[in-house]
Amino acid sequence: MGTKLRAQCKACGFRSEDLYTGFGFQGAGDHYMWPAICPKCQSFGLKDQRHPPQTCRRCRSVMVFYGSQDFSQKYYPDQTKAEPVGEDASSNILIGRHVCPSCGKVELTFEDVGYWS
Ligand SMILES: [Zn+2]
Ligand SMILES: [Zn+2]
Repeated sequence: MGTKLRAQCKACGFRSEDLYTGFGFQGAGDHYMWPAICPKCQSFGLKDQRHPPQTCRRCRSVMVFYGSQDFSQKYYPDQTKAEPVGEDASSNILIGRHVCPSCGKVELTFEDVGYWS
């Protein structure tokens, strides 16, 4: 059960598939799936936030969760190149703009499209 989100980027037109965030499909309640991005290869997808670190399937880097307060710190290894992201202001990913996995600009927005169970 959880919230169904969709992400889209105004800059490049990226649209995610429906993201079934929340407790995992296994029903054990021990998973909490949440959107994350790989700081190295920009792979994007749901990862289990209850069990960090989660590694990227492609390059094995540690994925960074959207909405986490240290997003910027973890996503930008070089802090002088860090851009202001929604996470700096709010842990609610529906607020603000986020890093786009497709073009890398801080233009990604998340939309709540309902509950799933
Ligand atoms: Zn990666
Ligand atoms: Zn984009």
